[in-house]
Amino acid sequence: MRKKIVAGNWKMNLTLEAGRILTSEIVNMVADEVKSDVEVIINPPFPHLHPTASLLEGSKVKLGAQNCSEHESGAYTGEVSVAMLQSFGSDYVIIGHSERREYFSEDNAQLAKKVDGALKAGLTPIFCCGETLETRESGAHFEFVCNQLTESLFHLSEADFKKIVVAYEPIWAIGTGVTASTEQAQEMHEKIRTHLKSKYGSAADSCSLLYGGSCKPTNAKELFACADVDGGLIGGASLKSRDFVDIVKSF
Ligand code: PEP
Repeated sequence: MRKKIVAGNWKMNLTLEAGRILTSEIVNMVADEVKSDVEVIINPPFPHLHPTASLLEGSKVKLGAQNCSEHESGAYTGEVSVAMLQSFGSDYVIIGHSERREYFSEDNAQLAKKVDGALKAGLTPIFCCGETLETRESGAHFEFVCNQLTESLFHLSEADFKKIVVAYEPIWAIGTGVTASTEQAQEMHEKIRTHLKSKYGSAADSCSLLYGGSCKPTNAKELFACADVDGGLIGGASLKSRDFVDIVKSF
């Protein structure tokens, strides 16, 4: 049985106070309304992590970060290490979000190092992959996404691979209001799983594959009903407690 997961990516939004309010609302709604075994994760900006960890104490909502350095420690001004994230109470870390790849030039080799560092620190990487509209329209989208996975994950041992969560986020669907159809989502998730199986065999059957890209309460149910979609990575809708928790309840 694969873990069902809904993770919120707050990106660079919310002051500390606004973040506290949102976290408390999510914690209360999840406690009152969520009866399923879905793993709920919030990924606030770095400065929120420590205070958010205190608010999550005793709750089943887990904490994640949006990025990490590939370096262990040292003279890397402005960076945050995996050991710091772990000490702030993070369980998860998003690695390779398309905004990091596009605006901060993160490439597959660098992301492989981040994955290694996160695993070493005991964090679960939520590894993001996904293609641009141009790549999809050229027909190279499956090859492109599989290559992202090969170059950043296929060096892992089977034991480490088993600790990974993968999020497929078509770039053309992120923050655009355009969601992948259930057919497009399932087709890509199936390809991803088949590709992971080519390297890791049946271990790929236990890997949670999340969909991300304009997921909202009105489309989450049909997306989560797809055979190879095990949950969602949620951007915009994770900033509204009602919407986020309604997505969590869409399984
Ligand atoms: C994201 O950036 O991870 C994301 C899925 O964003 P949105 O839900 O806003 O499309």
